[in-house]
Amino acid sequence: MMRRVYLDNNATTPVLPEVLEAMRPYFGEHFGNASSIHHHGQETRAAVERARESVAALLGCRASEVVFTSGGTEGDNLAIFGLTREGDHVITSTIEHHAVLNSCKHLAKYPGMAGCEVTYVPVDGRGLVDPADVKRAIRPKTKLITIMLANNETGVVQPIAEIGKIAAEADIYFHTDAVQAAGKIPIDVNKIGCDLLTISGHKLHAPQGVGALYVRKGTQLEPMLHGGSHERSRRAGTENVPGIVGLGKAAELASAGFERGDDSTMAAARDQLERELLEIEATGLNSEGAPRVPNTTNIYFDGIEGEALVIALDLKGLAVSTGAACSSGAIEASHVLTAMGLSRDRAKASIRVSLGKQNIAEDAEFALALISGAVSRLREISPVYNGVAKAQK
Ligand code: PLP
Repeated sequence: MMRRVYLDNNATTPVLPEVLEAMRPYFGEHFGNASSIHHHGQETRAAVERARESVAALLGCRASEVVFTSGGTEGDNLAIFGLTREGDHVITSTIEHHAVLNSCKHLAKYPGMAGCEVTYVPVDGRGLVDPADVKRAIRPKTKLITIMLANNETGVVQPIAEIGKIAAEADIYFHTDAVQAAGKIPIDVNKIGCDLLTISGHKLHAPQGVGALYVRKGTQLEPMLHGGSHERSRRAGTENVPGIVGLGKAAELASAGFERGDDSTMAAARDQLERELLEIEATGLNSEGAPRVPNTTNIYFDGIEGEALVIALDLKGLAVSTGAACSSGAIEASHVLTAMGLSRDRAKASIRVSLGKQNIAEDAEFALALISGAVSRLREISPVYNGVAKAQK
């Protein structure tokens, strides 16, 4: 059988065996509706509340401030649509995930949201938002600032504690999309100073289709789903008990990992792979010099098409990506890389490699050998690269 190595953990992560084991009873013997008052309901209610404690411990908040959702997209939508009203102004950045960008784009089209306006602050060449730009964008009608914690394509960590301070001083709500940060770097909502923070289970080795939104006590959030009074009337719908139990277990494992220093071990593995990849000629790191989560690297290989490289690597058993999973198949260059000032060609010549907890040292060696081989082969047949190389001689 062909050896397959998965280094696309920013798209999704495999459920860890311990997480699967924790979830298993909730598909069978513990099947109750967590709202039922009988034994079966009490059993699953207790499991949901234990998971809530574990997520709260990961984020440094109270359990009552955790709202379980169906994932990152719902969390981002709930934060944005739950707070914004007619005529409000929202500040976000040009490099957000589409869950935030497209929500902002659609704000003014929603009933009761007429006249909403959005300012998109830029990033510099490293992919960093300047907090001074956020401050300058504030208007009397600004209701919400939503800036991501870590970018999904580059892994760049934004100066969100500074932005949180600016938001607090101006008495404006601050939401951060921490989907790509949770489980990778320690998070403390009080140090960040945010009122809302989104996480998604499948990016930290819990299953797809479950997530959580931290909502600071006292935040006036209008629910998006109307129904029962689940999640303290902030999100109606029968809880996804197995998913929530999985998210709780993954949060526990992530917290334990930080105590062991797993994040620095992963950063060392990523840095080594990155150093070796950058020895290939005509390559460069996108986001050089910016703080990053420990698992992600985004590199350009001039003269090739990132999509062609991803396909060539997949045929040999290595899974990496050109950027956000949802934009794969689209031919446009990444909105994140172009916002950082990369040319369209260089943005399209870039790939993202993202490690997960399941990866072992040999995976990086395998990746290095395959990527160097595939880049050479693609460059041999690339008129663009050969043109550039000849012109440089
Ligand atoms: N926000 C970021 C930064 C992401 O990377 C993703 C997923 O790629 C999402 C939001 C959406 O999360 P979900 O897939 O759980 O809806």
